[in-house]
Amino acid sequence: MSIDWRSVDRWLTGDAWVRSRIPEHLVQLCDLIGPRWASTPQERSAADYIRAQMQAHGLASARLEPFQVDTWTHEPARARIEGRDAPVDVLPYLFCPPVSVTAPLIDTGFGTLREVEATRMKLAGAIAIVDPAFEPFTAPTPFPIRLRTLAQAGAQAVIAIDRKTGGRTEYHPATDWRTLKVEPHPVPTVDVSRETGTLLRRYAARGARLSLEVKSRAYQATTANTSAELAGTSWPDAHIVIGGHHDTVLNSPGGNDNASGTVVVIETARTLAALAAESGVRPGCTLRFVTFSAEEQFLQGSAAYVKQHYGPEPLPLLMINLDELSTGFMKGVVLQFPELRGLIERQLTAMGDGLATHTMTQLDAWSDHYPFSLRGIPTAILWRWRFFGKYPESDFHHEPDDMADKVRVRDLKEYVGLLARLVLRLSHVPPGEWPENRLDARAVQARIAEEITSPHRTM
Ligand SMILES: [Zn+2]
Repeated sequence: MSIDWRSVDRWLTGDAWVRSRIPEHLVQLCDLIGPRWASTPQERSAADYIRAQMQAHGLASARLEPFQVDTWTHEPARARIEGRDAPVDVLPYLFCPPVSVTAPLIDTGFGTLREVEATRMKLAGAIAIVDPAFEPFTAPTPFPIRLRTLAQAGAQAVIAIDRKTGGRTEYHPATDWRTLKVEPHPVPTVDVSRETGTLLRRYAARGARLSLEVKSRAYQATTANTSAELAGTSWPDAHIVIGGHHDTVLNSPGGNDNASGTVVVIETARTLAALAAESGVRPGCTLRFVTFSAEEQFLQGSAAYVKQHYGPEPLPLLMINLDELSTGFMKGVVLQFPELRGLIERQLTAMGDGLATHTMTQLDAWSDHYPFSLRGIPTAILWRWRFFGKYPESDFHHEPDDMADKVRVRDLKEYVGLLARLVLRLSHVPPGEWPENRLDARAVQARIAEEITSPHRTM
């Protein structure tokens, strides 16, 4: 197929702007459906909505792909300092087990070995307060390892002080995300805002006791990923995956995290399907548009997807993951492994928009590309600074105020146009011309085993 790229570029750029349906998708996902914790009816209606949108855009293959998820829920947690009337706001860490305890509060600083040693005599049976940030004067230790140290010293529960100010709290994991498993907490852990944390520290200095109650429940349920294909004309058996998660944490409408990525998946599919229908320009290899469930629950959706598909089917040429796009306008493509750098760089150069590629120096496990990386599949994310971005909105992920207003519609329209042009170009590179990109899954595992004792950097 000979393609006039200049007119295709114009068409896709224009279509991504003037026919964009991003605003109505945001209303539907964030305002009308709202929080989409995987396995809840709200999350299922989001998946149904996405499938219906894909079908309406002409992707007849759009379907739900159900799987079993290990999930969890909780009632509002309660805490109170003995002798003080006002309750203390606490939020359980993800998958926190039930706990009911009244015990002395012990300040353990950053929970480093040195600090735990210094408080060891008082820690047995106590509730420890700890700052998960890295203590500046010792080698940084991942927080899950510090929680294990506190558990071994006998702490019955841990209060972790959130990085955010202004009374904000958010859900965090208590175990290492890189293991890709729902594992038991080393010790029941809850989050408090920075202000509450410093208040508790002052009470701890005065020998106060705290009562803490978490009522929670872990159970199994069914949820579903969504998948839709735009079949390739030249190499239909080869494919590229473009994905992003549609679920959220409990009680968050998930604007930045991750309606932003979800709507770009839907819109990129829409504009490329429209291009095919209206001008006959179709992708060379097949493009698969996937939205994952249970990303917020240890990436169980993408892990299930990889397991369901990549045994029987050939691995994709590339997986591009879209998560938290409120960090800034698109600057380029970040690869987890270097093999495809030259090939992608050539497409970006041909596009002429000044986009660049980068390669991660540490495997990034914070989103749905990770299970693909583990399988030896080349993966990419779209923005280098996912968590500390250009805009203040990028600091919202796992909290009730991550609403639709945290999404910059103009940026997302630009993402759609650029991404559609990039993946269409990539789809027309014959599979035989892609550099050898199968990574040895065992080599990837060895790399993770080595990296897991060091902090998980996010940029
Ligand atoms: Zn996310």
